[in-house]
Amino acid sequence: MPGELIDGKALAAKVRQQVAEEVTEFGEPVCLATILVGDDPASHIYVSRKHDASHEAGIDSRDHRFPSETPEQEVLEVVAELNADAAVDGILVQLPLPEHMDEATVTRAVEWAKDVDGFHPENAGRLFLGEPHLVPATPLGVMRMLEEHDVQLEGCEAVVIGRSEIVGKPMAMLLLAEHATVTICHSRTRELAEHARRADVLVAAVGRPGLVTPDMVKPGATVIDVGVNRTESGLVGDVDRAVIEVAGLMTPVPGGVGPMTIAMLLSNTLKAARHRRLGLAVPGA
Ligand code: NAD
Repeated sequence: MPGELIDGKALAAKVRQQVAEEVTEFGEPVCLATILVGDDPASHIYVSRKHDASHEAGIDSRDHRFPSETPEQEVLEVVAELNADAAVDGILVQLPLPEHMDEATVTRAVEWAKDVDGFHPENAGRLFLGEPHLVPATPLGVMRMLEEHDVQLEGCEAVVIGRSEIVGKPMAMLLLAEHATVTICHSRTRELAEHARRADVLVAAVGRPGLVTPDMVKPGATVIDVGVNRTESGLVGDVDRAVIEVAGLMTPVPGGVGPMTIAMLLSNTLKAARHRRLGLAVPGA
C-alpha cells in the first residue's frame, strides 16, 4: 500500500492563519524588511511571495531591491539602517547574493534579534546549545510537519542528507533536540544508500533530482523532500516520486516543504516582534 502524502500547502495555510490571529491579538504593528540584490527571477518570485504572505497575515513589509552591481557597502548601510529602525522587527537577506558580495558578511550584519532567517552565529549558536530563539524557517517547517503527523522522534533513526547552514545542520540539531539518533550525510559520505535505509525519518536537502530512490528507503519511513530542482519536466525534489510506494509518509514537491518555509518565516517575524517589543527575555540571555 502506498504511503500518505503530507499536504504542506494545507498545513502552511493553517500556520499562516494562526499567525494572522496572533498578530491581531498582539495589537502592535509587526514589520518584515527584505533585501534582494540582483535579477535572479526565482529570487524575485520568492521575495514577492514573502511580501504577499506577510500582508495576508497582517504583517507590514518593506521591500528593498538593488541592481546586481550594487556595492556591498551600500547594502550593509541599508542593513544598519534597518537594524536601528524601531519599526522593523525582522530582516531577511534573500540568497544568493551576487558573486562580489560575501554572504556571511551581509547576513551576519543583521542584528540577531531581527534575524528571522536564523543565520546569525548568535541564533545558530543558541540552536546548537539547545536554547533556540530564531531558527531557520525551512527545518522549522519540517519539524512542524512531523509534529502535525505525530511522527515519533524520540529514539528514532533520523538521517539528514545535506549539511548546509540553512537546512541540513539546523535540521539535524532540531531532530537531536527531540532525542532522535541523528546521522548527517553529505557529498563525501560513503555508502549513502546504506545510511538512508536505516532511517525512520529521512530528510533530503541536496538539490539533486532523483537522489533518493525507493531502494534507499526503509518501508514505512517518513521521507521529507526539501530539494527544489527545476527540470525539463517541471519542479521536482531530491526524492524519486516512486518512493511513495515504500514510504509511510512523504512530502511532495511542489506543495510540501516550500509553503511551510514561508509560513514559518511569518511565525519567526511575529516571534522577533514579541520579544523585542515586549522586552521578553531570550532563552539563555
Ligand atoms: P547547499 O547546496 O548549500 O547544500 C547541499 C548539500 O548537499 C551539501 O551539504 C552537500 O554536501 C550535499 N550533497 C551534495 N551532493 C550530494 C550527494 N551526492 N550525496 C549526498 N549529499 C550531497 O543546498 P541547501 O541550501 O541546503 O539546499 C538544498 C536543497 O534544498 C536545494 O535544492 C534547495 O533549492 C532546497 N531548498 C528548499 C527550500 C524550501 O523552502 N523548500 C529552502 C532551502 C533550500
